[in-house]
Amino acid sequence: MVSEIELNKRQEKILEIVKENGPITGENIAEQLNLTRATLRPDLAILTMAGYLDARPRVGYFYTGKTGAQLLTENMKKLFVKDYQSIPVVVKENVSVYDAIVTMFLEDVGTLFVIDEKSLLVGVLSRKDLLRASIGKQELSAIPVNIIMTRMPNITVCKKDDLLLDVAQKLIDKQIDSLPIVKETDEGLEVLGRITKTNLTKAFVALAGEK
Ligand code: ADP
Repeated sequence: MVSEIELNKRQEKILEIVKENGPITGENIAEQLNLTRATLRPDLAILTMAGYLDARPRVGYFYTGKTGAQLLTENMKKLFVKDYQSIPVVVKENVSVYDAIVTMFLEDVGTLFVIDEKSLLVGVLSRKDLLRASIGKQELSAIPVNIIMTRMPNITVCKKDDLLLDVAQKLIDKQIDSLPIVKETDEGLEVLGRITKTNLTKAFVALAGEK
């Protein structure tokens, strides 16, 4: 995945040649640039992968005519939850708020998913949920998290085959930081993973071809 600005001089040259002469073989492009076919191969691969060029066997390369914005949209629709997910951190619903706070620090996450004795999703705990519970004089080790968590069926979830774009839209709509990635079973939702704003930020950078 490469954006328009990432193209180097040689790739720009190749685009020009194909625009004017396409369909044209790799061999012919190489000739015009005074380069070997082998030298050109990585550039042609990048231009084809990014969607600027299309290659047809026995015909050669031709220009797709797609704009940077079109290509960006197309490439965004190739980003899926399963390729950017993180490991979920879960706690049982009967653990104390105190222990949940400790877990959040030790695991270095901003959201904990709460599961029942069958390991099915029952709730979500955010940093602010835990902070809110900590205001006042309650004994934090005596309050179970299921008293303060956001609970099912009000949990927003996603599946591993969902588009990152759809996850981003849910995070915006619900004003939350992360979603559990779940699998539906007859008994309820099994937690398979976690997708956060950080994962989306990484995908954003990857889109620019930085990774
Ligand atoms: P914070 O509250 O720490 O800023 P969030 O913005 O993620 O973190 O959470 C805001 C509220 O939304 C919290 O009460 C939290 O329990 C709830 N929440 C977080 N994630 C989800 C989710 N996937 N589905 C439903 N509620 C959620």
